[in-house]
Amino acid sequence: MNLRAISLLRAAAASVVLVSFAAAPAGDREPAVVTPGTAGAPPSDAIVLFNGKDLSAWKSDDGSEPKWKVESGNMEVHGKSLMTRQEFGAIQLHLEWASPAEVKGEGQGRGNSGVYFQGRYEIQVLDSYQNKTYFNGQAASFYVHNAPLVNACRKPGEWQTYDIVFHPPKPGADGKVQPGSFTVLHNGVLVQDHIPVLGDASVSAKFTGATHTGPLMLQDHGNPVRYRNIWVRKLD
Ligand code: MG
Repeated sequence: MNLRAISLLRAAAASVVLVSFAAAPAGDREPAVVTPGTAGAPPSDAIVLFNGKDLSAWKSDDGSEPKWKVESGNMEVHGKSLMTRQEFGAIQLHLEWASPAEVKGEGQGRGNSGVYFQGRYEIQVLDSYQNKTYFNGQAASFYVHNAPLVNACRKPGEWQTYDIVFHPPKPGADGKVQPGSFTVLHNGVLVQDHIPVLGDASVSAKFTGATHTGPLMLQDHGNPVRYRNIWVRKLD
């Protein structure tokens, strides 16, 4: 065997090692060190999407500059839906929201907004404190697909947390879509327990079909809902 053949064999062996390492399931490798945040603050490996100061991570859903009001460390729905400039696949998301303290409207017209994963799968934001609507359209529902396990809504104007783990449905090599999933905690209470997300679950006319990555979107539904402390961790 000549030197070139030996070096090719070595390169092949090295790539096998790399491939098998990359394919190792989570939990079967040395974990990275992450410094956790306190009281909802981002951990060290998070991508901060809103830190209370500016909208640099966002654009309007038509691509124009966002007009939401940034004030006192939070941002308020104004004008158009917001979309992240960056696209994501599987993520862990933390955000905090508050419906207007002054109660106006009822049902879907009270404090309506929403968090759209990949611009298409909506976890509903709504003032569902003593406010009846269809059960799979209330706060923390996977909008029109799955009601939350319980209604854990705080009072209008109070800050609320969503901690969400999202795995997108993915187009498979065989042409079939592999279902994704949602797990949602609302104010620390489990409300969506690893429920399936199918490829046709989009509630957007603009974004449809299963895809590997897409933007995170915050809905403008005409109500002055506020957001703060938004960060994600990539899971793939
Ligand atoms: Mg909504």
